[in-house]
Amino acid sequence: MRKWVFAFLLVILLSYGVSHYVTKDADDSKVEIDDASEPPQDGQMISVSKEQVYQGDLLLVNTDYALHPEGIRSDIVSLSKRQDLVKGYGLLDQSVQLSESVVKSFSKMVEGAKEDGVEHFLINSGYRDADKQDQLYRDMGHDYALPAYHSEHNLGVSLDIGSTEAKMDEAEEGKWLKKHSAEYGFILRYPKGKEEITGIQYEPWHFRYVGVAHSAIMQEQDLTLEQYLDKLKQTKAISITIDGQKYTVTYYPIVGDSATVNVPQGKRYDISGNNYDGVIVTVYE
Ligand SMILES: [Zn+2]
Repeated sequence: MRKWVFAFLLVILLSYGVSHYVTKDADDSKVEIDDASEPPQDGQMISVSKEQVYQGDLLLVNTDYALHPEGIRSDIVSLSKRQDLVKGYGLLDQSVQLSESVVKSFSKMVEGAKEDGVEHFLINSGYRDADKQDQLYRDMGHDYALPAYHSEHNLGVSLDIGSTEAKMDEAEEGKWLKKHSAEYGFILRYPKGKEEITGIQYEPWHFRYVGVAHSAIMQEQDLTLEQYLDKLKQTKAISITIDGQKYTVTYYPIVGDSATVNVPQGKRYDISGNNYDGVIVTVYE
């Protein structure tokens, strides 16, 4: 009898794999992660220069790592002058700026929330240039703000989202985003309980765009950007399938002045630096 139970458990274990997760959220979108995946073998090796380390969706910018000027988004727009982009949410004031492509992803997210009856969103802050960040740092002090070039707001991919109804940790908007923002490529960047890792107090309003494959892995595995980038360095590759679309994510270190990375032929891929020692290639399989 015991042998039978053991064999049964073994079969179950083998058929699922230890590092294999399948989850379904309320909307029935299916996410499957394999974090013992192999990097793509087909394709061609190309050389990536060191400058690429400082550009892309996955740049780590915090107290330890300053952004490099080439990391700042080139598509920053002033939202009050682009009313075509501002639909279904408000702006705190006329000064809000953000990367246009990030605004488009944010708008899709707002539309998704509206379908669930959550619709009182406000953007309180987006892109800040170095002077503005410097002023904020001097006004607020180091407990509440980061020095110039050390804040994600200087990249143009982060935004402080508010609700017109309540504080974000109590508002429906905050609760909805916490659960669903990863489906749209955003992460809650400074979560509760991760203060030691991020170095920043819990901020229920601060969201950062990283891209859909990465946000989903971080959400499913409860990782901050710091932890995710660390994990990629220790893993051959991670693959994730979201609603039938598979992505394979591989880290490559920069050795000397360049890295050699494998990119597929005839498939879409993105390359992003981590802002310190390597690049991450995301292949759309
Ligand atoms: Zn913020």
